Amino acid sequence: MIRPFYPIVIIGAGMAGLAAANTLSGNGYEILIIDENDHIGGQLLRTRDPIQPGGWSPDPMKSIGFDLIKRLKTAKDITVMPRAEVLGILPDRRLLVHTMDRPDTCKEIRAGRLILATGARERYLPFPGWTLPGVMSLGAAQILMKHHGVLPAADTLIAGSSPLMMVLAAELLANGGKVAGLADEKGMKDKAAFLPFLRHHWPKLLEGGWYTGRMIMGRVNQYPRTRVITATGNGRFKTTVLASIDPKGRIIPGTEMEIQAGALTVGYGFAPNIELGVQAGCRTGYKPSLGGWVLETPHSRYETSVPGIYAAGEPTGVGGAKKSWIDGRLAAMGILKSDGKVPAARHKQRFDATRAHLRRQAEHQLAYAGFLNRLTALPDAAYTTIPDETLICRCEAVTMGDIRKRITQGFDTPAVLKKATRCGMGRCQGRICGPVTQDIIRVLTANKPDAPATGTRARVPVKPVPAAALFSSKENNR
Ligand SMILES: Cc1cc2nc3c(=O)[nH]c(=O)nc-3n(C[C@H](O)[C@H](O)[C@H](O)COP(=O)(O)OP(=O)(O)OC[C@H]3O[C@@H](n4cnc5c(N)ncnc54)[C@H](O)[C@@H]3O)c2cc1C
Repeated sequence: MIRPFYPIVIIGAGMAGLAAANTLSGNGYEILIIDENDHIGGQLLRTRDPIQPGGWSPDPMKSIGFDLIKRLKTAKDITVMPRAEVLGILPDRRLLVHTMDRPDTCKEIRAGRLILATGARERYLPFPGWTLPGVMSLGAAQILMKHHGVLPAADTLIAGSSPLMMVLAAELLANGGKVAGLADEKGMKDKAAFLPFLRHHWPKLLEGGWYTGRMIMGRVNQYPRTRVITATGNGRFKTTVLASIDPKGRIIPGTEMEIQAGALTVGYGFAPNIELGVQAGCRTGYKPSLGGWVLETPHSRYETSVPGIYAAGEPTGVGGAKKSWIDGRLAAMGILKSDGKVPAARHKQRFDATRAHLRRQAEHQLAYAGFLNRLTALPDAAYTTIPDETLICRCEAVTMGDIRKRITQGFDTPAVLKKATRCGMGRCQGRICGPVTQDIIRVLTANKPDAPATGTRARVPVKPVPAAALFSSKENNR
């Protein structure tokens, strides 16, 4: 039975949320974790059965994560609310929560303290045909396999600039699928430039080596410095045209080639999920090295600019599972510290030493985040060469041509462009087109992204929900 008030509510049960809950557990709080998925674990630990993860992984964070899940399941002070989406944060840290098991209703839950551990989303680079059935994000292909137990198709072409491409290729091969090719925006030279830096992150280097070996053993055709130009098919994806790009990201004419596959998966890095924080009034900052707009946590306690609201993991900067795990623990320790729950004397010393150690590790992970986000970032030419007919906002059918025209007319911030074109006003509330529209504006204008997505404030509900559910929330809370 979910109660109307919890001293601690954590939104998101990925590495950050799990780590925060485990650190807070046993300290006299009743803790509620809300996550929209069937199982806790977030993006990294997504599985059909969280207790039987199966399969070896080169990523040590996975076994740490599954251990956290096991511990959390036996903790008496932690309540998990799966299949529940937080649609908005109302004043006084009241959360509007929609449960998928009762889709026509919403609940209000008040949080004493709130930790936003909402993760990140994938970035896209639109091209003609990207809305065809059979074209999907890398994460969507992972969900099909890990959650539903089906392959995206018998053979899948993978494209983009994301480190997830190799992870997905290995997962497809392990599940009996074929990889029709891997078209990478970046070439060996681009990647080699990062090698000196990566010597300080050798576990990641080893992981990269393992995935490269897997590609070689699986005889995956790799196409470096290559971009998807179009996707076509009669009602469903069948063929893609790829082309080589030069070091500045411009398409090299005459290099086009056609590849046929059952599915095309694409991904271009990640953007932090910050809309709940923006809605609550938390200060944001534009940090390309952390994936774009992030929630700022000016105090070392991971508290945002709004008292009582903390942020951990990807919303504070895209940096991978280890950063999220460390952030979650530090945010929890920040709460313990401000509540005076630090154990006395000898134990306090250990607490302080662990916190200092984690802070140093967090700095190290921020350096890795810089590498990760530079590696996935696209050159300006990737945006300037998007053809006019390409859909940018799929919900409201706004094309690149519409956006170009409106920008020339002076609608050159996300807020005014949204009003002029309806870009980002549809069902997904800009979750898909938002980051790419901001990049297009940045590249086509000399504007500095100088305010939280300049007016594209996230309103309630941040996720699509039946209108009846919103109307019901007052009734349910009487
Ligand atoms: C699609 C996708 C796939 C990824 N796959 C991998 C992978 O295979 N390997 C890897 O190393 N890294 C992967 N990553 C990167 C991954 O995000 C990080 O490595 C790390 O696990 C992030 O941990 P986190 O706790 O910060 O966020 P997450 O693991 O993303 O957890 C956040 C959780 O919050 C939930 N949530 C968000 N908003 C709401 C809301 N309003 N209401 C309720 N719940 C909400 C999300 O559903 C999610 O379960 C992936 C990222 C994405 C976006």
